[in-house]
Amino acid sequence: AAKAKQATWIVYNTALELDQSDTLVLIADLKQAIQQNQLLLYIQPKIDVTTRKTRGGEALIRWVHPEKGMLLPDQFIPLAEQTGLISEITDWMLRRACEVVADYRRQGLRINLAVNLSARDLNNMALPDQIVALLTEYALDTTALSLEMTEDSLMQAPERAAAVIGKLAALGLPLAIDDFGTGYSSLAYLKQLPVQALKIDRSFVMFMDKNADHASIVKATIDLAHHLGLNVVAEGIESEEVLARLARLGCDEGQGYFIGKPMPEKDFSIWLERWEG
Ligand code: C2E
Ligand code: CA
Ligand code: CA
Ligand code: CA
Repeated sequence: AAKAKQATWIVYNTALELDQSDTLVLIADLKQAIQQNQLLLYIQPKIDVTTRKTRGGEALIRWVHPEKGMLLPDQFIPLAEQTGLISEITDWMLRRACEVVADYRRQGLRINLAVNLSARDLNNMALPDQIVALLTEYALDTTALSLEMTEDSLMQAPERAAAVIGKLAALGLPLAIDDFGTGYSSLAYLKQLPVQALKIDRSFVMFMDKNADHASIVKATIDLAHHLGLNVVAEGIESEEVLARLARLGCDEGQGYFIGKPMPEKDFSIWLERWEG
């Protein structure tokens, strides 16, 4: 028994060390990634579900790792959040988003990009001034950007987050609660926040044409949001059927693979031409 225990310990310990050194390497790589231009801004289009006209897009990060290839946010954003590197990623995304919107506006396309914020960003009282400085630098107004934050990221330090959000809203930046329905925030808290929109999590939207419970949750969320004076954005629209159903339920905006997958920022104008006809 003692031998078995020892063997188990060795295996476990080795696994743990591997894990930690992997993580450390990834952290070092991520620091370089920011400096060496390995990060990319992808855009996923957002449309008005009734008119099907384009409303803009969501900015989603991608990392082209020199050895591992294309990494999705779920493979490095949590790590960036734990280590604090997320602040640099947010700075990079906000600057890149301003650059892209300014480029498109020079071509006559008035697009808006939504940038995702994390819990740490919502703790950063300097963020609103940083955003003002960026908008000024790129000669943009507050219709250029909007910001998305999850319920859970708000709940990590609710009072501070409310203060940061208050400043952002006062500047006129549109704010949305992301992944609505998956977190633990209280409606009483959310109701006080100066946000314009709720984004229904894709886990409820994706199968709403096949799952009656999901359809009820989506319908109830739309009614509730409208009752509170908020717009509703549905994400995870994968079929014409779901898009049509959301329109019937009075949903305001939508995004999903059926409309357009996240794409390199340059391809967005091509998508736009095809979609708008
Ligand atoms: P999110 O903010 O909820 O973004 C939507 C995610 O759903 C994206 O995944 C998008 O590709 C995916 N999606 C959109 N439509 C569909 C669909 O029809 N079907 C399915 N199955 N999936 C769909 P992605 O790009 O992998 O991003 C994952 C998450 O990573 C995002 O979730 C967001 O929380 C986070 N993230 C991405 N970029 C950033 C960033 O720049 N900063 C921060 N803090 N987080 C980011
Ligand atoms: Ca989002
Ligand atoms: Ca979401
Ligand atoms: Ca999500």
